[in-house]
Amino acid sequence: MENLYDVLIIGCGPAGLAAGLYSARAKMKTLILEKGKTGGQIVTTNEVANYPGSVREATGPSLVARMVEQAEEFGAERKIDAVVSVDLEGKIKVVKGEKEEYHAKSVIIATGATPRKLGVPGEVELTGKGVSYCATCDADFFTDLEVFVIGGGDSAIEEAMYLTKFARKVTVVHRRDTLRAAKSIQEKAFKNDKIEWIWNSAPEEIKGDGIVESIVFKNRETGELTEYEAHEDDGTFGIFPFIGYLPLSDVFKDMIDMDDRGYIITDDDMKTNIGGIFAAGDIRQKSLRQVVTAVADGAIAAVQAEKYIENTFHE
Ligand code: NAP
Repeated sequence: MENLYDVLIIGCGPAGLAAGLYSARAKMKTLILEKGKTGGQIVTTNEVANYPGSVREATGPSLVARMVEQAEEFGAERKIDAVVSVDLEGKIKVVKGEKEEYHAKSVIIATGATPRKLGVPGEVELTGKGVSYCATCDADFFTDLEVFVIGGGDSAIEEAMYLTKFARKVTVVHRRDTLRAAKSIQEKAFKNDKIEWIWNSAPEEIKGDGIVESIVFKNRETGELTEYEAHEDDGTFGIFPFIGYLPLSDVFKDMIDMDDRGYIITDDDMKTNIGGIFAAGDIRQKSLRQVVTAVADGAIAAVQAEKYIENTFHE
């Protein structure tokens, strides 16, 4: 059979790469499918301070580059293809990409999550024209300009601090009056005098003709609307929403058990409700979504896939 792999991994972030490393190292024919950009969300992070062993200079991209090198050294293949449909019930699993069809004895789903959108008028039209979901990628465009960060979680506050290295002023806009971010992160941010705060408020509309020119916030307590316009000399400013993530699990709907938000339910061995199908990383229903938990999931999934193949195909 053409394109028959022992283990097919969908997704090339830390979970998928760790699964690829363990699977290839166990001499299983391994393919990691990636949709476009390698590395998943961690690539959008400039500092990886909480991955054990990562040094001060470790960035998301540098960490992922080493993970890719390591997985490939052991023989994992990588292909760029977006999965459009899957048939997972049979003994041989079929994964259809935009470019090719793949067959595998087992599949590890490591598709991760994507930034949640605000859903306000103007957001879609002005994405890439002032609205951005990746500070590491786009901070440079806002050198000496003003920037608004939306959200109050770890991502929003960490990225706000990162943006202060470029922007003239960073205003964090949070829909409540207390942050969700870890206390240690909050403390640093409150000491940063380039950061200002707008509490109890959320965006209502983003306006601009081909580039962001103003943003309207609604105070959730008073209902008052306030419009912030770009400084005359600047002509524009940045808007970075960091309001959580959505799981990329649509293609597996109605086949794989998920919670009501679309996160895949597994047991401790990363097994889903279908034999031979495993899930790893941010796509799983879990309490801590970090690189360190993603790579652990990936390793467990690969080891369990190996056991599954041994039991199912070598009897
Ligand atoms: P998060 O923890 O879910 O926080 C999302 C933030 O956005 C919350 O403050 C939420 O407000 C706000 N929000 C949600 N929907 C909104 C809307 N429609 N309009 C305005 N605000 C909205 O997401 P995250 O910060 O991206 O973090 C995701 C996970 O990654 C978390 O588990 C986090 O701990 C982890 N993470 C860890 C690190 C680290 O350890 N260094 C760094 C980044 C992320 P409410 O607070 O009112 O709900």
